[in-house]
Amino acid sequence: MKQLIDKLYHTGRLLPDEFRALLSNRNDELYGYLSEKAREARVRNYGHDVYIRGLIEFTNYCRNDCLYCGIRKSNSSAQRYRLTESQILECCRTGYDLGFRTFVLQGGEDGYYTVEKMTAIIRSIKEEFPDCAVTLSIGERSYEEYKAFYDAGADRYLLRHETADEAHFARLHPDRMSLRNRKKCLYELKQIGFQVGCGFMVGSPFQTVDHIVEDLLFIKELEPHMVGIGPFIPHHATPFAGMEAGTLELTLYLLAVIRLMLPTVLLPATTALGTIDPQGRELGILAGANVVMPNLSPTSVRQKYMLYDNKICTGDEAAECRHCLEKRIESIGCRIAVSRGDHRAYTTSTA
Ligand code: SAH
Repeated sequence: MKQLIDKLYHTGRLLPDEFRALLSNRNDELYGYLSEKAREARVRNYGHDVYIRGLIEFTNYCRNDCLYCGIRKSNSSAQRYRLTESQILECCRTGYDLGFRTFVLQGGEDGYYTVEKMTAIIRSIKEEFPDCAVTLSIGERSYEEYKAFYDAGADRYLLRHETADEAHFARLHPDRMSLRNRKKCLYELKQIGFQVGCGFMVGSPFQTVDHIVEDLLFIKELEPHMVGIGPFIPHHATPFAGMEAGTLELTLYLLAVIRLMLPTVLLPATTALGTIDPQGRELGILAGANVVMPNLSPTSVRQKYMLYDNKICTGDEAAECRHCLEKRIESIGCRIAVSRGDHRAYTTSTA
């Protein structure tokens, strides 16, 4: 197995059967070797810098009905909210003072935010904070809409593919959604010029090792600038309420594999990872992750953006989160970078 890790380290590639073997034969010793290599790759490309992104969860209205998600349309117990443009800008001001140079606007697929409204929000953020990157995470839209967001100044787009297996995708999503459209969106976003992030949940219901191999092969094919993975965590008011959560062990293992596959990728240690284990995010960084995305949403709405149960930091002010994270990151020998933290391929062109 160590030879496979060496091969991945040196070439960034493995054959499907080799990925399958690497995933099926996990043990502590192997993880020790894998994560050591992954840290080496992270340090070689990004030093000990960890990039922070201020997450602004600006709407929990959603027209979609993803079976795993707590803000799915059918969850009538969710209290819905929307932030106004001025509330969003206020979050950015707080964030800027705390050293954030990337703002991530994330939300459900909410038709209220028309292309006109979204582009107006993007423009105001870029006007007031020209040195900051704007990332969108608002789901599937048309090519024309993506293009309009890009032309308005948005820099990056996160759209997890969720699973690269058709049949698995169909078990996690309602009929009107398709993996084909998800992939089409990702390729369009990339073509338009966004720094793009895909990703999936670790341990999502019905997920097999073969599905994960497909995920890895798709990630390699897309070559995204960012990859978001975190454990699936059940939400009590969804059809998957009784399902098991993904594990820390497998999530860390996959973070390390992805770091070796795409050495320069921007790889977050997610809030979901911090939710299943108190040290999850630190361990994620030690597995090769180099991004954290603390919450900048107003505390009044934090409890309402519940994608899964027991989400951490829902009661904390942005400043508390920032300082807590700084301590955590420094405790493992890294430091928070006050910069946009672009993918390396973009650093020179946008500086
Ligand atoms: N609506 C947007 C983004 C919001 S959801 C979109 O569709 O892209 C952001 C991510 O949270 C999703 O891509 C999904 O992978 C993750 N997520 C949703 N429900 C979750 C759960 N129960 N456990 C863990 N992650 C979840």
